[in-house]
Amino acid sequence: MIKDSVKKTQQTQTKEKQGKKSFETIKDNKKANENQHKPLKLIDKKALPKELHFDLSALFKDEDSLATFTQQLDKKLQAFKDKYQGKLSTLTPNMFDDALKEYEKLSEDFGAIMTYVFLKFAVDSKKYGAMYADYELKCNAMYSNIMFFELEFADLDSKLMNDFIAKSTQHSFFLSNIRDNKKYKLSLQEEQVILNLSPVGVDAFSRLFDESLANMRFDGIKDSKKIGEEEILGLLHAEQRKVRKMAQKNFTKGLKKHTHLLTYILNMVRKNVAIMQNMRGYEKPESFRHISNQTTQESVDSMVACVNANMNLVHGYYRVKRQLLGYKELKDYDRYAPLGLAKKKVSMSFQEALYDTLRSFYHFSPRFYEIAKEAVECGWIDSHPKPAKRGGAFSHGSVPNAHPYVMLNFTGNRRDAFTIAHELGHAIHQELSKTQGTLNHDTPLTTAETASVFAEMLLFDDMKKRLKGRELLDIYAGKIEDIFSTLFRQIVMTNFERKIHEQQGELKSDDFDRIWFQENQKMFGNSVHLTNKYARWWSYIPHFIHSPFYCYAYSYGQLLVLALFGLYKKSSNKEQFIQTYTEFLSAGGSKSPRDLILAFGFDVNESAFWEVGIGEVKTLLREFEVLLNNTAL
Ligand SMILES: [Zn+2]
Repeated sequence: MIKDSVKKTQQTQTKEKQGKKSFETIKDNKKANENQHKPLKLIDKKALPKELHFDLSALFKDEDSLATFTQQLDKKLQAFKDKYQGKLSTLTPNMFDDALKEYEKLSEDFGAIMTYVFLKFAVDSKKYGAMYADYELKCNAMYSNIMFFELEFADLDSKLMNDFIAKSTQHSFFLSNIRDNKKYKLSLQEEQVILNLSPVGVDAFSRLFDESLANMRFDGIKDSKKIGEEEILGLLHAEQRKVRKMAQKNFTKGLKKHTHLLTYILNMVRKNVAIMQNMRGYEKPESFRHISNQTTQESVDSMVACVNANMNLVHGYYRVKRQLLGYKELKDYDRYAPLGLAKKKVSMSFQEALYDTLRSFYHFSPRFYEIAKEAVECGWIDSHPKPAKRGGAFSHGSVPNAHPYVMLNFTGNRRDAFTIAHELGHAIHQELSKTQGTLNHDTPLTTAETASVFAEMLLFDDMKKRLKGRELLDIYAGKIEDIFSTLFRQIVMTNFERKIHEQQGELKSDDFDRIWFQENQKMFGNSVHLTNKYARWWSYIPHFIHSPFYCYAYSYGQLLVLALFGLYKKSSNKEQFIQTYTEFLSAGGSKSPRDLILAFGFDVNESAFWEVGIGEVKTLLREFEVLLNNTAL
């Protein structure tokens, strides 16, 4: 889910290739793999591993080779600077194309370094926090050698710029974006100052937030054992109400101990957004995000309005949930209560969860299945919680010459299977699009969540076929609640951010509490009683810190996927759909989301488009209701 923080790693520094030899070996292995899988057979559940750890050797053999590589890169960057700085306007289109390819290679080098140290840090923030910060400083200083490239390109006169764009066809979309966003760029010196100060500026607060949250310990439920954030939030899904209530109380208490710190950090982020808006001349605090998402204010506004107008779908569902649970009133800590209609256990092993996900890919597309299987077998995944390991889950796109990395925190809930599907969906997207090269590899956030959410739908659809009655009702409820949190909750967060960023000056924790409470109330109406404790729960949301205004991209992705999935299910030519969909993912960030989605016959600029996705939510709720009426409870 947290591609954002990863993206961030890649925003400030660019990215290449380490020892050529090892990459060739990787490619050779891959060919061998492809040949082995004919005919493709679904793997045996028992053959799946119980736990997985990263194998970072696709990036670097060890820390020594990382250090040597970094030194060499430094020299290459200086050489690139000497060769091209101040000279772009004297190049022919062919020479420019060569320079661009060199730039892309250097960018990938950066990516390899930062991916490696980021993944080390993610798995053990205590041991690698200092190393991560050290490399971030180093890489930023090194990157300042080549940051002239895009800026100088943006400063070329239009005729020459367009000649270059016409020649470098593979990167025309990337270059056109630079041309179009030129007005928000500052001078080279100003950009350098911002970049050089960033590790002690807003990035330092991000790091402080991460490290603080990773090291926070909350009162647990039994004994006097203290537990981490991931674990205590997991307890909100517990069957026993008193466990959930206790988790809510202890989590709030823990967060309140850090009121000053968490309030301060969020205020610093607000200040940073305001300073950047002012310096770069963005129209609104959120404008920078729409630019990097390659979408428009209008399109986002119409999507947000559409979701806000349908919050009543949430109210209706929670009223039914309250009845099913037999409570007089549903409280905030009951939101994730399992319906527990099925008499059997709700937990599942890592092997089971992994198997279910692989099977759903297997039935959709052999290519999808193959990539996911490779992820399991070749060290792409780190599966379980560990002390000082970062919370949540993500898939890091890494660099085109290696492979994506998927971090999970598997705790044995059924929803963890959906997290596996989600992150492997990302990984498949990242793997498919790596042929586009480093500069076209990253997708804007608006389509970055498409593959992941689609993968969750595949898993859900597969489960629908295998289960019935009470157990299926549980799965439906889980899916509906997932959609609620991806679709409606993310818009609540967006509404919250819009409110806090439009205010002037520093806000007090009480102000954040009040706005958070009000915005959440709209999602639940009178179907859920939000307690006062819940008011403080804005303070652990990492997106507000790492990537302001990121959240709506989840809703965007969710609505898009719901529409696409509806198309897939209704399609009489599934092969054709799968092909279009695979091409859509393989294009990565080489085209605008609008152009990519047009291939399916949808236009994201039309408001009716969003209604299609909402229509699918209504269908799901109807199916749930029918199933409920037909099941003896
Ligand atoms: Zn995600």
